[in-house]
Amino acid sequence: MIICSPKTACESGITGEHKTYIVSKHIKVCESDMKKSYQFRIYPNKNQEVILNRTLSTCRHLYNDSLAERKRESELNNLERDFGIIPWGKPEWINYYDQANDLSESKTNFQKEVFSQVLQNVLKRVDRSFKNFYNGFGYPRFQGRNRYNSFTYPQSGFELDDGKITLSKIGNIRIILHREIEGKIKTCTIKKDIDQWYVAFSCEIDKPIIPVEIETRTGIDVGLKSLLTLSNGEQIEPPEFLRESESKLRHEQKRLSRKKKRSHNRNQQRIIVAKVHRTIRNQRKDFNHKTSNVLVNTYDHIVFEDLQIKNMVQNHHLAKSISDAGWSQLINFTKSKAEYAGKVVELVNPRNTSQNCSSCGKMVSKSLSVRVHSCPFCGLELDRDHNAAINILNRSIYTVGTTGINACQGTQRSIDAAGSSPPFRGE
Ligand SMILES: [Zn+2]
Repeated sequence: MIICSPKTACESGITGEHKTYIVSKHIKVCESDMKKSYQFRIYPNKNQEVILNRTLSTCRHLYNDSLAERKRESELNNLERDFGIIPWGKPEWINYYDQANDLSESKTNFQKEVFSQVLQNVLKRVDRSFKNFYNGFGYPRFQGRNRYNSFTYPQSGFELDDGKITLSKIGNIRIILHREIEGKIKTCTIKKDIDQWYVAFSCEIDKPIIPVEIETRTGIDVGLKSLLTLSNGEQIEPPEFLRESESKLRHEQKRLSRKKKRSHNRNQQRIIVAKVHRTIRNQRKDFNHKTSNVLVNTYDHIVFEDLQIKNMVQNHHLAKSISDAGWSQLINFTKSKAEYAGKVVELVNPRNTSQNCSSCGKMVSKSLSVRVHSCPFCGLELDRDHNAAINILNRSIYTVGTTGINACQGTQRSIDAAGSSPPFRGE
Protein backbone atom coordinates (compact mmCIF):
# COMPACT_ATOMS: atom_id res chain seq x y z
CA MET A 1 0.00 0.00 0.00
CA ILE A 2 1.25 3.41 -0.87
CA ILE A 3 0.85 6.63 1.03
CA CYS A 4 -0.53 9.19 -1.35
CA SER A 5 -1.99 12.64 -1.18
CA PRO A 6 -5.14 13.77 -2.91
CA LYS A 7 -3.22 16.62 -4.52
CA THR A 8 -0.58 14.58 -6.29
CA ALA A 9 -3.05 11.83 -7.14
CA CYS A 10 -1.75 8.44 -6.30
CA GLU A 11 1.88 7.70 -6.91
CA SER A 12 1.32 4.06 -6.26
CA GLY A 13 1.55 3.32 -9.95
CA ILE A 14 -1.59 1.30 -9.55
CA THR A 15 -3.96 2.11 -12.32
CA GLY A 16 -7.67 2.40 -11.80
CA GLU A 17 -10.05 4.52 -9.83
CA HIS A 18 -8.90 5.71 -6.46
CA LYS A 19 -12.01 5.89 -4.40
CA THR A 20 -11.77 6.87 -0.79
CA TYR A 21 -9.37 7.41 2.00
CA ILE A 22 -9.71 4.86 4.71
CA VAL A 23 -8.26 5.25 8.14
CA SER A 24 -6.30 2.34 9.48
CA LYS A 25 -4.80 2.24 12.94
CA HIS A 26 -2.30 5.02 12.37
CA ILE A 27 -2.46 6.15 8.81
CA LYS A 28 -4.80 7.26 6.15
CA VAL A 29 -4.32 5.37 2.97
CA CYS A 30 -5.66 5.38 -0.50
CA GLU A 31 -8.03 2.65 -1.50
CA SER A 32 -8.07 1.70 -5.12
CA ASP A 33 -9.56 -0.84 -7.47
CA MET A 34 -6.65 -3.11 -7.90
CA LYS A 35 -5.56 -4.20 -11.32
CA LYS A 36 -3.30 -7.12 -11.81
CA SER A 37 -1.79 -8.34 -15.02
CA TYR A 38 -0.70 -11.77 -16.01
CA GLN A 39 1.38 -12.94 -18.91
CA PHE A 40 1.44 -16.45 -20.32
CA ARG A 41 3.16 -17.97 -23.28
CA ILE A 42 0.92 -19.42 -25.98
CA TYR A 43 1.88 -22.03 -28.54
CA PRO A 44 0.14 -21.52 -31.88
CA ASN A 45 0.58 -24.14 -34.61
CA LYS A 46 1.99 -23.18 -38.02
CA ASN A 47 -1.43 -22.32 -39.43
CA GLN A 48 -2.42 -20.22 -36.45
CA GLU A 49 0.89 -18.40 -36.55
CA VAL A 50 0.14 -17.36 -40.12
CA ILE A 51 -3.26 -16.01 -39.02
CA LEU A 52 -1.73 -14.22 -36.00
CA ASN A 53 0.89 -12.59 -38.20
CA ARG A 54 -1.76 -11.58 -40.71
CA THR A 55 -3.90 -10.07 -37.94
CA LEU A 56 -0.92 -8.08 -36.69
CA SER A 57 -0.24 -6.87 -40.19
CA THR A 58 -3.88 -5.85 -40.77
CA CYS A 59 -3.89 -3.97 -37.47
CA ARG A 60 -0.63 -2.25 -38.27
CA HIS A 61 -1.90 -1.09 -41.66
CA LEU A 62 -5.09 0.20 -40.10
CA TYR A 63 -3.03 2.00 -37.47
CA ASN A 64 -0.82 3.69 -40.04
CA ASP A 65 -3.75 4.58 -42.32
CA SER A 66 -5.78 6.09 -39.49
CA LEU A 67 -2.76 8.00 -38.30
CA ALA A 68 -2.14 9.31 -41.81
CA GLU A 69 -5.77 10.38 -42.12
CA ARG A 70 -5.66 12.31 -38.88
CA LYS A 71 -2.36 13.87 -39.75
CA ARG A 72 -3.66 15.03 -43.15
CA GLU A 73 -6.77 16.54 -41.61
CA SER A 74 -4.83 18.42 -38.98
CA GLU A 75 -2.47 19.79 -41.63
CA LEU A 76 -5.43 20.99 -43.70
CA ASN A 77 -6.90 22.61 -40.62
CA ASN A 78 -3.63 24.38 -39.99
CA LEU A 79 -3.57 25.66 -43.58
CA GLU A 80 -7.04 27.06 -43.17
CA ARG A 81 -6.24 28.64 -39.83
CA ASP A 82 -2.92 30.19 -40.87
CA PHE A 83 -3.59 31.25 -44.46
CA GLY A 84 -7.36 31.01 -44.95
CA ILE A 85 -6.76 28.47 -47.71
CA ILE A 86 -9.31 25.69 -48.19
CA PRO A 87 -7.77 23.54 -50.92
CA TRP A 88 -10.18 20.58 -50.99
CA GLY A 89 -13.35 21.79 -49.36
CA LYS A 90 -13.75 22.58 -45.72
CA PRO A 91 -11.84 20.13 -43.56
CA GLU A 92 -13.14 18.78 -40.30
CA TRP A 93 -11.44 17.45 -37.25
CA ILE A 94 -11.58 13.68 -37.18
CA ASN A 95 -11.97 11.85 -33.92
CA TYR A 96 -12.12 8.25 -32.80
CA TYR A 97 -15.87 7.94 -33.43
CA ASP A 98 -15.63 9.19 -37.01
CA GLN A 99 -12.93 6.68 -37.76
CA ALA A 100 -14.82 3.87 -36.04
CA ASN A 101 -17.95 4.67 -38.09
CA ASP A 102 -15.98 4.73 -41.31
CA LEU A 103 -14.40 1.43 -40.43
CA SER A 104 -17.69 -0.34 -39.77
CA GLU A 105 -19.12 0.94 -43.06
CA SER A 106 -16.24 0.04 -45.31
CA LYS A 107 -14.09 -2.87 -44.29
CA THR A 108 -11.50 -4.38 -46.59
CA ASN A 109 -11.41 -8.13 -47.05
CA PHE A 110 -8.44 -8.36 -44.72
CA GLN A 111 -10.26 -6.38 -42.06
CA LYS A 112 -13.29 -8.64 -42.30
CA GLU A 113 -11.07 -11.49 -41.12
CA VAL A 114 -10.27 -9.72 -37.86
CA PHE A 115 -12.57 -9.52 -34.81
CA SER A 116 -14.22 -6.09 -34.96
CA GLN A 117 -13.38 -5.02 -31.40
CA VAL A 118 -9.73 -5.71 -32.10
CA LEU A 119 -9.86 -3.25 -34.99
CA GLN A 120 -11.68 -0.68 -32.87
CA ASN A 121 -8.95 -1.04 -30.30
CA VAL A 122 -6.40 -0.13 -32.97
CA LEU A 123 -8.30 3.13 -33.58
CA LYS A 124 -8.35 3.69 -29.81
CA ARG A 125 -4.55 3.35 -29.82
CA VAL A 126 -4.27 6.01 -32.52
CA ASP A 127 -6.60 8.21 -30.50
CA ARG A 128 -4.56 7.68 -27.36
CA SER A 129 -1.29 8.50 -29.11
CA PHE A 130 -2.79 11.83 -30.24
CA LYS A 131 -4.06 12.56 -26.76
CA ASN A 132 -0.58 11.82 -25.41
CA PHE A 133 0.83 14.20 -27.98
CA TYR A 134 -1.51 16.96 -26.81
CA ASN A 135 -0.30 16.26 -23.28
CA GLY A 136 3.28 16.95 -24.24
CA PHE A 137 4.56 13.61 -25.50
CA GLY A 138 6.08 13.03 -28.93
CA TYR A 139 4.15 13.15 -32.19
CA PRO A 140 2.55 9.78 -33.04
CA ARG A 141 4.84 7.63 -35.15
CA PHE A 142 4.11 5.37 -38.07
CA GLN A 143 4.71 1.78 -37.05
CA GLY A 144 7.17 -0.43 -38.88
CA ARG A 145 6.89 -4.22 -39.12
CA ASN A 146 9.34 -4.78 -36.31
CA ARG A 147 7.69 -2.30 -33.99
CA TYR A 148 4.01 -3.07 -34.06
CA ASN A 149 3.80 -6.29 -32.09
CA SER A 150 0.47 -6.64 -30.31
CA PHE A 151 -3.29 -6.51 -30.67
CA THR A 152 -5.99 -6.41 -28.01
CA TYR A 153 -9.40 -7.92 -27.37
CA PRO A 154 -10.76 -5.11 -25.17
CA GLN A 155 -13.89 -6.85 -23.81
CA SER A 156 -14.84 -10.10 -25.42
CA GLY A 157 -13.91 -12.45 -28.20
CA PHE A 158 -11.66 -14.63 -26.07
CA GLU A 159 -12.27 -17.57 -23.78
CA LEU A 160 -10.02 -19.60 -21.53
CA ASP A 161 -10.55 -23.23 -20.80
CA ASP A 162 -8.61 -26.34 -20.16
CA GLY A 163 -5.16 -25.68 -21.55
CA LYS A 164 -6.30 -23.56 -24.45
CA ILE A 165 -7.42 -20.06 -25.23
CA THR A 166 -10.09 -19.50 -27.85
CA LEU A 167 -9.62 -16.31 -29.84
CA SER A 168 -12.43 -15.16 -32.08
CA LYS A 169 -11.50 -15.39 -35.80
CA ILE A 170 -8.23 -17.12 -34.91
CA GLY A 171 -8.97 -20.40 -33.14
CA ASN A 172 -7.96 -22.50 -30.13
CA ILE A 173 -4.35 -21.95 -29.13
CA ARG A 174 -2.47 -24.03 -26.60
CA ILE A 175 -1.61 -22.12 -23.43
CA ILE A 176 0.15 -23.07 -20.21
CA LEU A 177 -1.32 -21.33 -17.19
CA HIS A 178 1.56 -21.44 -14.72
CA ARG A 179 -0.25 -19.25 -12.18
CA GLU A 180 -3.83 -19.05 -11.10
CA ILE A 181 -5.63 -15.98 -12.43
CA GLU A 182 -7.26 -13.87 -9.72
CA GLY A 183 -10.10 -11.47 -10.35
CA LYS A 184 -12.10 -10.76 -13.44
CA ILE A 185 -10.31 -10.66 -16.81
CA LYS A 186 -10.95 -7.31 -18.48
CA THR A 187 -8.74 -7.28 -21.54
CA CYS A 188 -6.70 -9.81 -23.45
CA THR A 189 -3.66 -8.74 -25.46
CA ILE A 190 -1.74 -10.98 -27.85
CA LYS A 191 1.95 -10.12 -28.18
CA LYS A 192 4.65 -11.27 -30.51
CA ASP A 193 8.21 -11.41 -29.24
CA ILE A 194 10.47 -12.26 -32.21
CA ASP A 195 9.54 -15.94 -32.60
CA GLN A 196 7.42 -16.38 -29.49
CA TRP A 197 3.83 -15.46 -28.72
CA TYR A 198 2.34 -14.37 -25.43
CA VAL A 199 -1.03 -13.42 -24.05
CA ALA A 200 -1.42 -10.75 -21.38
CA PHE A 201 -4.56 -10.48 -19.28
CA SER A 202 -5.46 -7.40 -17.34
CA CYS A 203 -7.65 -8.29 -14.37
CA GLU A 204 -9.63 -6.34 -11.84
CA ILE A 205 -9.55 -7.55 -8.27
CA ASP A 206 -12.16 -6.80 -5.67
CA LYS A 207 -10.27 -7.42 -2.51
CA PRO A 208 -10.34 -5.25 0.57
CA ILE A 209 -6.90 -4.09 1.60
CA ILE A 210 -6.11 -4.87 5.20
CA PRO A 211 -3.20 -2.75 6.42
CA VAL A 212 -0.72 -4.58 8.61
CA GLU A 213 0.81 -3.07 11.71
CA ILE A 214 4.31 -1.84 10.82
CA GLU A 215 6.91 -3.75 12.81
CA THR A 216 9.83 -4.24 10.46
CA ARG A 217 11.29 -1.66 8.14
CA THR A 218 14.21 -1.19 5.80
CA GLY A 219 15.80 1.41 3.55
CA ILE A 220 17.25 0.25 0.26
CA ASP A 221 20.02 1.71 -1.86
CA VAL A 222 20.10 0.49 -5.45
CA GLY A 223 23.59 0.41 -6.83
CA LEU A 224 25.27 1.04 -10.12
CA LYS A 225 26.32 -2.58 -10.61
CA SER A 226 22.93 -4.26 -10.09
CA LEU A 227 23.50 -4.50 -6.37
CA LEU A 228 21.02 -3.83 -3.58
CA THR A 229 22.14 -2.67 -0.15
CA LEU A 230 19.75 -2.79 2.79
CA SER A 231 19.97 -0.48 5.77
CA ASN A 232 21.05 -3.38 8.00
CA GLY A 233 24.12 -3.78 5.79
CA GLU A 234 22.84 -6.86 3.98
CA GLN A 235 23.52 -6.96 0.24
CA ILE A 236 21.61 -8.72 -2.52
CA GLU A 237 23.50 -9.48 -5.68
CA PRO A 238 21.93 -10.51 -8.96
CA PRO A 239 22.75 -13.98 -10.27
CA GLU A 240 25.96 -14.41 -12.24
CA PHE A 241 24.19 -15.41 -15.46
CA LEU A 242 22.62 -11.97 -15.73
CA ARG A 243 26.10 -10.48 -15.91
CA GLU A 244 27.14 -13.09 -18.47
CA SER A 245 24.20 -12.22 -20.72
CA GLU A 246 25.06 -8.55 -20.45
CA SER A 247 28.58 -9.13 -21.72
CA LYS A 248 27.18 -11.37 -24.47
CA LEU A 249 24.91 -8.50 -25.49
CA ARG A 250 27.85 -6.12 -25.86
CA HIS A 251 29.64 -8.70 -28.01
CA GLU A 252 26.66 -9.28 -30.33
CA GLN A 253 25.93 -5.57 -30.61
CA LYS A 254 29.49 -4.96 -31.74
CA ARG A 255 29.05 -7.62 -34.43
CA LEU A 256 25.81 -5.97 -35.54
CA SER A 257 27.50 -2.61 -35.99
CA ARG A 258 30.02 -4.18 -38.38
CA LYS A 259 27.39 -5.69 -40.72
CA LYS A 260 26.55 -3.99 -43.97
CA LYS A 261 23.38 -1.89 -43.95
CA ARG A 262 20.26 -3.56 -45.37
CA SER A 263 22.05 -6.88 -45.86
CA HIS A 264 20.55 -10.29 -45.07
CA ASN A 265 23.36 -10.89 -42.57
CA ARG A 266 22.54 -7.73 -40.76
CA ASN A 267 18.93 -8.74 -40.38
CA GLN A 268 20.00 -12.14 -39.00
CA GLN A 269 22.29 -10.40 -36.52
CA ARG A 270 19.50 -8.00 -35.53
CA ILE A 271 17.38 -11.01 -34.55
CA ILE A 272 20.26 -12.47 -32.51
CA VAL A 273 20.66 -9.17 -30.63
CA ALA A 274 16.90 -8.96 -30.02
CA LYS A 275 16.96 -12.48 -28.57
CA VAL A 276 19.82 -11.66 -26.17
CA HIS A 277 17.82 -8.60 -25.12
CA ARG A 278 14.85 -10.84 -24.46
CA THR A 279 16.95 -13.23 -22.36
CA ILE A 280 18.24 -10.35 -20.25
CA ARG A 281 14.76 -8.91 -19.87
CA ASN A 282 13.44 -12.27 -18.66
CA GLN A 283 16.35 -12.90 -16.30
CA ARG A 284 16.07 -9.44 -14.87
CA LYS A 285 12.31 -9.79 -14.44
CA ASP A 286 12.77 -13.11 -12.71
CA PHE A 287 15.38 -11.64 -10.36
CA ASN A 288 13.14 -8.66 -9.62
CA HIS A 289 10.15 -10.91 -8.89
CA LYS A 290 12.16 -13.06 -6.49
CA THR A 291 13.80 -10.09 -4.77
CA SER A 292 10.55 -8.18 -4.33
CA ASN A 293 8.97 -11.32 -2.84
CA VAL A 294 11.77 -11.60 -0.29
CA LEU A 295 11.51 -7.90 0.58
CA VAL A 296 7.75 -7.87 1.01
CA ASN A 297 7.79 -11.10 3.01
CA THR A 298 10.51 -9.78 5.33
CA TYR A 299 9.56 -6.12 5.81
CA ASP A 300 6.33 -4.24 6.49
CA HIS A 301 7.68 -0.86 5.44
CA ILE A 302 10.17 -0.53 2.61
CA VAL A 303 11.83 2.75 1.63
CA PHE A 304 13.43 3.36 -1.75
CA GLU A 305 14.91 6.42 -3.38
CA ASP A 306 12.56 8.09 -5.83
CA LEU A 307 14.38 7.30 -9.05
CA GLN A 308 12.22 9.68 -11.06
CA ILE A 309 13.52 12.63 -9.10
CA LYS A 310 16.97 11.15 -9.21
CA ASN A 311 17.05 10.98 -12.98
CA MET A 312 15.78 14.53 -13.21
CA VAL A 313 18.53 15.80 -10.95
CA GLN A 314 21.44 13.55 -11.85
CA ASN A 315 20.93 12.61 -15.46
CA HIS A 316 24.47 13.65 -16.29
CA HIS A 317 25.66 10.27 -15.11
CA LEU A 318 24.49 8.10 -17.95
CA ALA A 319 25.51 4.65 -16.69
CA LYS A 320 23.70 5.34 -13.46
CA SER A 321 20.47 6.40 -15.10
CA ILE A 322 20.51 3.29 -17.28
CA SER A 323 20.93 1.03 -14.29
CA ASP A 324 18.15 2.94 -12.55
CA ALA A 325 15.87 2.14 -15.46
CA GLY A 326 16.32 -1.51 -14.59
CA TRP A 327 15.57 -0.76 -10.96
CA SER A 328 12.21 0.86 -11.51
CA GLN A 329 10.80 -2.54 -12.37
CA LEU A 330 11.91 -3.89 -8.99
CA ILE A 331 10.33 -0.93 -7.24
CA ASN A 332 7.08 -1.37 -9.17
CA PHE A 333 6.93 -5.08 -8.39
CA THR A 334 7.60 -4.35 -4.71
CA LYS A 335 4.90 -1.67 -4.69
CA SER A 336 2.20 -3.89 -6.10
CA LYS A 337 3.12 -6.87 -3.94
CA ALA A 338 3.22 -4.65 -0.86
CA GLU A 339 -0.14 -3.17 -1.69
CA TYR A 340 -1.59 -6.61 -2.02
CA ALA A 341 -0.20 -7.58 1.39
CA GLY A 342 -1.34 -4.35 3.10
CA LYS A 343 2.23 -3.15 3.57
CA VAL A 344 3.86 0.19 2.79
CA VAL A 345 6.37 1.20 0.14
CA GLU A 346 7.66 4.74 0.32
CA LEU A 347 9.80 6.73 -2.12
CA VAL A 348 12.01 9.46 -0.68
CA ASN A 349 14.10 12.27 -2.06
CA PRO A 350 17.42 10.83 -3.26
CA ARG A 351 19.48 14.00 -2.98
CA ASN A 352 22.81 13.50 -1.20
CA THR A 353 21.86 10.15 0.31
CA SER A 354 25.36 8.91 -0.43
CA GLN A 355 27.10 12.14 0.64
CA ASN A 356 25.53 12.82 4.02
CA CYS A 357 26.70 11.06 7.13
CA SER A 358 24.02 8.75 8.48
CA SER A 359 25.20 9.30 12.02
CA CYS A 360 25.78 13.06 12.41
CA GLY A 361 24.01 14.28 9.23
CA LYS A 362 26.97 16.37 8.05
CA MET A 363 27.97 16.45 4.40
CA VAL A 364 30.97 14.28 3.49
CA SER A 365 31.66 14.76 -0.22
CA LYS A 366 32.99 11.81 -2.15
CA SER A 367 33.22 10.78 -5.78
CA LEU A 368 31.65 7.60 -7.17
CA SER A 369 34.93 5.71 -6.89
CA VAL A 370 35.19 6.16 -3.12
CA ARG A 371 33.56 3.04 -1.72
CA VAL A 372 33.87 3.75 2.00
CA HIS A 373 32.15 6.49 3.92
CA SER A 374 34.44 7.79 6.63
CA CYS A 375 33.19 10.82 8.51
CA PRO A 376 35.77 13.37 9.74
CA PHE A 377 33.14 14.93 12.07
CA CYS A 378 31.91 11.95 14.09
CA GLY A 379 34.32 9.22 13.06
CA LEU A 380 31.71 6.92 11.52
CA GLU A 381 33.20 4.51 9.03
CA LEU A 382 31.16 2.11 6.92
CA ASP A 383 30.43 0.96 3.39
CA ARG A 384 29.27 3.76 1.12
CA ASP A 385 26.06 2.02 0.03
CA HIS A 386 25.25 0.93 3.57
CA ASN A 387 25.52 4.57 4.69
CA ALA A 388 23.20 5.58 1.84
CA ALA A 389 20.65 2.89 2.73
CA ILE A 390 20.51 4.15 6.34
CA ASN A 391 20.02 7.71 5.08
CA ILE A 392 17.19 6.52 2.85
CA LEU A 393 15.45 4.84 5.78
CA ASN A 394 15.99 7.92 7.98
CA ARG A 395 14.42 10.10 5.34
CA SER A 396 11.16 8.24 5.64
CA ILE A 397 8.42 10.58 6.79
CA TYR A 398 6.19 7.74 7.72
CA THR A 399 6.62 7.07 11.40
CA VAL A 400 4.27 5.36 13.79
CA GLY A 401 1.89 7.99 15.05
CA THR A 402 1.89 10.27 12.03
CA THR A 403 -1.27 10.43 10.05
CA GLY A 404 -1.42 9.98 6.35
CA ILE A 405 -2.15 13.63 5.72
CA ASN A 406 1.09 14.75 7.35
CA ALA A 407 2.91 12.01 5.58
CA CYS A 408 1.59 13.18 2.24
CA GLN A 409 2.60 16.77 2.80
CA GLY A 410 6.07 15.54 3.67
CA THR A 411 6.34 13.68 0.40
CA GLN A 412 5.12 16.67 -1.52
CA ARG A 413 7.61 18.95 0.20
CA SER A 414 10.56 16.75 -0.63
CA ILE A 415 9.51 16.53 -4.26
CA ASP A 416 9.29 20.30 -4.49
CA ALA A 417 12.67 20.64 -2.87
CA ALA A 418 14.28 18.31 -5.36
CA GLY A 419 12.65 19.96 -8.33
CA SER A 420 13.73 23.51 -7.58
CA SER A 421 17.22 24.90 -7.60
CA PRO A 422 18.33 25.50 -4.00
CA PRO A 423 19.95 22.20 -3.12
CA PHE A 424 18.13 20.06 -0.65
CA ARG A 425 20.59 18.84 1.91
CA GLY A 426 18.50 16.21 3.62
CA GLU A 427 17.45 16.57 7.20
ZN1 LIG B 1 29.35 11.85 10.82
